[in-house]
Amino acid sequence: NIVIKVSGLYKYYKVGTQYVHALDGLDFDIKKGEFCAIVGPSGSGKSTLLNMLAGLEKPSKGEIVIAGKHIEKLNENQLVAFRRENVGFIFQSYNLLQTMSAVENVAMPLMFRGVPVKKRLAVANKYLELVGLKKQANQKGNAMSGGQQQRVGIARALAMNPKIIFADEPTGNLDTKTTGEVLELMKDVVSKAGKTLIMVTHDNHIADFADRRIRIVDGKISD
Ligand code: ADP
Ligand code: ADP
Repeated sequence: NIVIKVSGLYKYYKVGTQYVHALDGLDFDIKKGEFCAIVGPSGSGKSTLLNMLAGLEKPSKGEIVIAGKHIEKLNENQLVAFRRENVGFIFQSYNLLQTMSAVENVAMPLMFRGVPVKKRLAVANKYLELVGLKKQANQKGNAMSGGQQQRVGIARALAMNPKIIFADEPTGNLDTKTTGEVLELMKDVVSKAGKTLIMVTHDNHIADFADRRIRIVDGKISD
């Protein structure tokens, strides 16, 4: 039941005449339904890894098999289709449209997929309820707290029904109490929905909320 398999993954960046080894030979598997933290200090390669897994950047060497597909072999159009089918994102800065309501924010990506208005509002409302924001459905982004905005971000990711959700420092702008609440919520809804959740963080305490951690130091897995 492996959803992501990474083998011999390298990423080099050429800077002037030098090569930076951002990822230096990674091997790991992630199972379906796992909540996995990718943890490590700043500059260790976490964002680079996330970008590879999401098909936003190509590896220099190695293989990434996600849901049975070799994503390092896909072209741009195939990658767009791959992300559309498989991948959702939760952002550190929430990325809500501030002048739109919670429900409009969750429904928006469904509009771009051609889901008719009644259907997409129903789906958006369902996921807002799931994240505890039923009453705030009509509040504008800028009228909500950071914690509420991130709940909308979680609902938006889930509403697209991806297999895998990537969250890059999802609580980076939240206070300690709200961080705990949002992480518990992510853990709960993601496991109930049977999603695989991959969270990047530099903070070990935040990684503690995950079922499992992959620690990266200088582009290598460290135990
Ligand atoms: P983290 O997310 O853990 O902070 P990154 O993946 O952003 O780490 O960076 C890993 C290493 O790769 C760092 O040394 C960084 O400077 C380098 N790096 C990342 N992106 C690029 C790029 N586009 N060009 C050159 N070097 C890069
Ligand atoms: P589409 O045409 O389906 O919107 P995109 O390639 O624009 O395809 O984006 C697919 C998904 O990847 C979207 O959910 C988008 O928000 C996300 N995405 C695109 N670029 C980035 C990025 N640099 N970092 C994180 N997520 C991104």
